[in-house]
Amino acid sequence: MGEWAVREEQAVAREALKFLQLQSLAPSPQNYALGYVLKSGTNQSLASAVNDATDGGIRMSQKQADEIFTRCIGSLGDAGGGNAADLLRNQTRHQLLRMAEVATHAAERTGDFNRELSAGYEKLADKGLPEIDLIISDMVERSLRAEQDLAAAAREVEALRQELDTARHDANLDALTGLPNRRALETAMDRLRDEKRPFLVAICDVDHFKRVNDRYGHAVGDRVLKTVAASLVESCGGQMVGRWGGEEFLLVLQGLAPDEAEHLVDGARRDLGQRAFKLRESDEPMGAITFSAGLAVVSAGAAEWSSALDSADAALYRAKGQGRNMVLRA
Ligand code: GH3
Ligand code: MG
Ligand code: MG
Repeated sequence: MGEWAVREEQAVAREALKFLQLQSLAPSPQNYALGYVLKSGTNQSLASAVNDATDGGIRMSQKQADEIFTRCIGSLGDAGGGNAADLLRNQTRHQLLRMAEVATHAAERTGDFNRELSAGYEKLADKGLPEIDLIISDMVERSLRAEQDLAAAAREVEALRQELDTARHDANLDALTGLPNRRALETAMDRLRDEKRPFLVAICDVDHFKRVNDRYGHAVGDRVLKTVAASLVESCGGQMVGRWGGEEFLLVLQGLAPDEAEHLVDGARRDLGQRAFKLRESDEPMGAITFSAGLAVVSAGAAEWSSALDSADAALYRAKGQGRNMVLRA
């Protein structure tokens, strides 16, 4: 996501929280989603429902908020339209960040208050007023407890936030190879396109991979894919290597002229071809594993990268037709 998009999203999140405060609505995920969708200005029927409910500065009741939410959004998962899971993750994240902030500040403030109370209490205790003495010691104790509770809440929120970051990270990684998955590759290419940076794409498809599965079984096939992934990473000098799907890998290459990119991909092809694949169980050699690749340029300022990917695919198809184990340019 571009920096602008993040800033925009944060602005909407702040507006959503302001809306909840103004309406005295609890910062629950559902209310937050209501505010977020309202402030993102993407749901006209929701906007007019809220407008009707709050006409003349009336505060919306929770019942009204629930009713509008059900009618105009449906369920939390529908709040985003396009990528609902993403939106929900982002909402939860915003909320957690905000809660962490609130809890930390509250804990700090309670701490100050506590110290003031204790100081006041000592002064009053000197004067010997028993009722005030009792009231204040009770208040001090309650405040202390509140401070501890808040600190615990802040820790809990921080732990949740970290869990969420981990989940988000996992959502971008391919489970088998640990490489960036298709979604991560698409995000990376979108970003390069938005920044108007040129790059190259190379689709690498393992040759006759079906035979590996047929001959040795799926589990061996999986291990081969892991090794292919590791080999590509090792040969590609820090360039982005991801799993596009199945036995296809995508390289997103930056800062290289087409000749240099071709040289790099061809080197990776040779490196893999020279690896000795053996069956783990019997040490039996499996023969060479090779790939074919199609390479295409995405020019700076190109409106989209998908047509370059189609061209790379066509070049890959040619490579397969010309005998495999080769890299061809679109
Ligand atoms: P070609 O040289 O034309 O690419 O031949 P191929 O056999 O590699 O091509 P094809 O697309 O017919 O077969 C790809 C196979 O890859 C089919 C599918 O079962 C296998 N495959 C896809 N994903 C996985 C995976 O995650 N694990 C394993 N073991 N096999 C996979
Ligand atoms: Mg394939
Ligand atoms: Mg293949």
